[in-house]
Amino acid sequence: MAERVDAVVVGAGAAGVATAWALARRGVSLRLFDDGVGATSLAGGAIDDQPWEEIARAASTLGLEPVLRPVSAELGEFVAALGLHRLGVTHSGGASAQVTRLATEAGCLRIARGHDRALLDLSLSERARILVPRVPRPEWDADSLARSWTADPHAQARGFQFIAVDAELCKLAGEDRIGVADFAARHDDEARLRWLGERIAELLRPANTGLGGPPDAVLLGPWLGANEPRAEELSRMVGVPVGEALGSVGGPPGLRFEAARRRLLERLGVARERAYVTAVCRKNGQFVIEHELGPAAHARALVLAIGGMASGGIVFDPPERYAGQDAPERVRPPFRASLEVDVTIAAAGRVFDIGSSLHGPALDRDAWPTDADPGLLERIGIVCTVARAGPYLYAAGDAIADRPRTFLEAVASGLAAAHGVLRELGQT
Ligand SMILES: Cc1cc2nc3c(=O)[nH]c(=O)nc-3n(C[C@H](O)[C@H](O)[C@H](O)COP(=O)(O)OP(=O)(O)OC[C@H]3O[C@@H](n4cnc5c(N)ncnc54)[C@H](O)[C@@H]3O)c2cc1C
Repeated sequence: MAERVDAVVVGAGAAGVATAWALARRGVSLRLFDDGVGATSLAGGAIDDQPWEEIARAASTLGLEPVLRPVSAELGEFVAALGLHRLGVTHSGGASAQVTRLATEAGCLRIARGHDRALLDLSLSERARILVPRVPRPEWDADSLARSWTADPHAQARGFQFIAVDAELCKLAGEDRIGVADFAARHDDEARLRWLGERIAELLRPANTGLGGPPDAVLLGPWLGANEPRAEELSRMVGVPVGEALGSVGGPPGLRFEAARRRLLERLGVARERAYVTAVCRKNGQFVIEHELGPAAHARALVLAIGGMASGGIVFDPPERYAGQDAPERVRPPFRASLEVDVTIAAAGRVFDIGSSLHGPALDRDAWPTDADPGLLERIGIVCTVARAGPYLYAAGDAIADRPRTFLEAVASGLAAAHGVLRELGQT
């Protein structure tokens, strides 16, 4: 690996990969360091720009249908290059975008700006009938999920019916107990996917559904591939839309993101160097980036796409942690970045710098999210103007203070960081 490059990106979640994509396609030499598991790998496959609850709440207060903003052309290009998600269709004129509806494993229906292509979009016609096969898996209780989804206000308004049906969708012994990622990975295999298609086609026969006609869709757990989303192929095989419900933390959608990231970085010729970056300093007009893999990297520009508290990019480390029976030894900030670097950490305009606290913040008071405020731990991050934290220094994604913690926001700020780098390098 070259020791001297134009730019170093730390973190390869949605934000870091977007930055690397935007820089690499313009010929900027770069290195990408990433270690650990980030929020992007933990999320369930819905993608939003603003938190969806805010949009849903505003729509319900105003008595209107939720309206989504279209995304920028470059963001759309990145999503297409990653090849994992489908974005809600933008209406002609570009003023708004169609809401996607997803069924969650928690038993409700929610709106989203887009989703992993394995997930079932419930933008279906009125009175749609959606089959929910009974599959003996720990994350799946078809009967109570079907009841709960049918009772959701949106389902009630549209007359949707979710119907639990008997099915034999586990093929091999033990598939009722193996991890959900292993079960999903089995459907990466062509022959196994065909077998699943045949079982579902069988299920759809009028004699088996008792519906007197074909259902409108089939909803499954997060089982349709660990390497790639397999729902579209399955839907083509059986002739009705088949897809996943939105799963909980750390499931197959995260693995599919990691696989899509690997394919995209390979195409760009960028290596994801699996190493922790420990410290950064400036020397002779360059950044010197210390990492676990070997000699320091040198770069003119640096992008910190290290994530927020969920990924350990921002660390809660109050002085009182080391206090023992006496007062803490010294006053220092209760939050720090995962690497030593000269940045300012803040949340809601409150700066956490040297000398800010002896005991750290009162988390019982400041950390709890409310309707209007996501709380300290979701806001805390690096102070930036757009994505710029200093000369040639940028942050992106969840690492930035006071920005929404969403996939599309992470991508948008990753692209903004790349454009800032390009400007400062004189490569626009
Ligand atoms: C459970 C969960 C559900 C979510 N649901 C949704 C949703 O429904 N819709 C939505 O839009 N968003 C959702 N989000 C939020 C969304 O996933 C994040 O906002 C987005 O993925 C953040 O991307 P990022 O690149 O900024 O950070 P991350 O994906 O966290 O990436 C940061 C990376 O940097 C690495 N890193 C940190 N420090 C270092 C270091 N010193 N050296 C090397 N590497 C380092 C981390 O290990 C990680 O790999 C969810 C998040 C979670 C956790």
